[in-house]
Amino acid sequence: MKDSSTDCFCVNPFLEVNVTPAGSVRPCCAFVPFIALDGRPMSVYEHSIEEIWNSEAMRSVRRKLTEGEPVKECSYCYNQEKVGVRSMRVDGSQAWEAGWVNPRGDTIDNMKARARANDFRVPDGPEWIDLDVGNLCNLKCRMCRSLSSSKIAEDPVHSRWTGDFEMPARWQGLAMAIAPRRVLGIAYEGISGLDRSTSPPVGWMQGVATIRLKMPAEKVSVIQVKLRAATAQRCPLEIFVNEVPVYRGELSGAALTQTFELPPQVMEAGELTLRIESPARAGIEEVTLFRPQTGKSKVEFSRLSSGKQWFQDDDFLFNDLLYKIDNVVKINFIGGEPLLIKEVRSIMKHLISRGAANNITLSMSTNGTITDDEWCDIAAQFKSVAIAVSLDGFANVNDYIRYPSKWDSIEPNIRRLQRIKNAYVYANVTVQAYNMLHIPALAQFCEDMDLDLRYHFLEIPNHLSCLVMPPEARIAAARKMRNFAMANAPDATTRVRRTMYVRDTMLKLAAILEENDKPADPKLLNAFMIFTNDLDADRRQDFASVNGELKELILAYGAPWNAQTSRPGLCFGEQSTETLYHGLWGCD
Ligand code: SF4
Repeated sequence: MKDSSTDCFCVNPFLEVNVTPAGSVRPCCAFVPFIALDGRPMSVYEHSIEEIWNSEAMRSVRRKLTEGEPVKECSYCYNQEKVGVRSMRVDGSQAWEAGWVNPRGDTIDNMKARARANDFRVPDGPEWIDLDVGNLCNLKCRMCRSLSSSKIAEDPVHSRWTGDFEMPARWQGLAMAIAPRRVLGIAYEGISGLDRSTSPPVGWMQGVATIRLKMPAEKVSVIQVKLRAATAQRCPLEIFVNEVPVYRGELSGAALTQTFELPPQVMEAGELTLRIESPARAGIEEVTLFRPQTGKSKVEFSRLSSGKQWFQDDDFLFNDLLYKIDNVVKINFIGGEPLLIKEVRSIMKHLISRGAANNITLSMSTNGTITDDEWCDIAAQFKSVAIAVSLDGFANVNDYIRYPSKWDSIEPNIRRLQRIKNAYVYANVTVQAYNMLHIPALAQFCEDMDLDLRYHFLEIPNHLSCLVMPPEARIAAARKMRNFAMANAPDATTRVRRTMYVRDTMLKLAAILEENDKPADPKLLNAFMIFTNDLDADRRQDFASVNGELKELILAYGAPWNAQTSRPGLCFGEQSTETLYHGLWGCD
């Protein structure tokens, strides 16, 4: 077998599509940004899966990988490899070549030869389907974000740190909101990402802000704009719709709501452009379009005739996304918490009713806080099931990070999942500052529960990375992992393979921590403290009671604990919180 860790090749762009809740597509969840056409993300609301799957952008990725050229959208994997982490690229490619969800026993050499022969099209369609069906979740884990947890999106403190995400444009009743939250298919200029540190959240502007969209298929009769100045000082304000002036007046710290009937010439136009001019910094609280009569709730700018979201549209799911269903060998569900999302269950049932489940490996991650018999019975009807239970520590460490999970519920849930026929259940830990000194206790739990322990070495958000902590903390964590591995040498009476796997994970993690011996990053360490204070105060949790040893190591390093919390509008040195938070999320 060729060693896929020695070059930049990855099997994913030849096998997989990942579809996000907003309908954008990419070859895996780590590929940034999305597959695009003319600079705009391609979306299942505008293009068929086949058009995207064999688009010029996808073919270009395959061409580069086949010719041994790195792909910049794969930087996440390459960066993980630079710090010694086994990336998704290496892990997935090697597992596939070893036979995992590769029923024909295909090889990378064959894959490349076929791609060349077909001008980098893959006519058999994607074999692996990776579906991100929304962020409904019951937890708000510290390292997670609004995109993946509805609880974080609703939390004004945590969401302030995580940035926002685009959603499709949707009519609800008479109205369709198009700002300050970004809506897919609409162009925004001069408006910041959503700042949730204010109440209500705003998109900031100063000078000229423009919102440009194709005129919706539904007739738009009225636009409503709600704004306020950043300070109490009065300042001039002008608003134009398709260059027609609709408001000229003043703005102050109090909210100003203006509602405009659209002039007839604008209603006839193919495009709608809203321009707001304010020399002073102003917050856009709302821009909403109104139709004359209420109608069904539906996605606008969509080719799906049902008006539903893609994951609710059976015609899209079974005649488009799964257009080569006989070739599909793996379906992975991402959330949110997939066991809570009703669309996951209905897609699973539909695959069973079509007779396709027998050939498909089902895979997903769950937080382990909920299970039910119906879901387990449905899962048992798939060819096989791979379930990653996300655990970030043992007992109180897990509950601290994965708030508000209750550890007592997790063990019985894991046992129930382990009883599913053909299920491979394993633990997956996101190794981060909050748990680096506690991994051996989790490893012991995994051995006791007969679980493999896999890991994701956290890179984003940057301020929670182990590499931000003092080197002494990394060395202490590595030492604990090595001690655990040495003290748990398997003997004839233990489950040898499992014990070896967990020990091996400990040794790999210890090596990563030892090899990355750079000093702590003072800016990110400061952000770590303020983020911790923010969440502790809001959740009535206490960092020191769970991580007293890490706090001591930080203090011993000469970094006094900054007791500050962030506040709406707070500035970190020269940077606004908004700039800092978006920077911390890197490519997001
Ligand atoms: S290299 Fe990484 S980011 Fe690129 S397609 Fe493969 S798994 Fe995804």
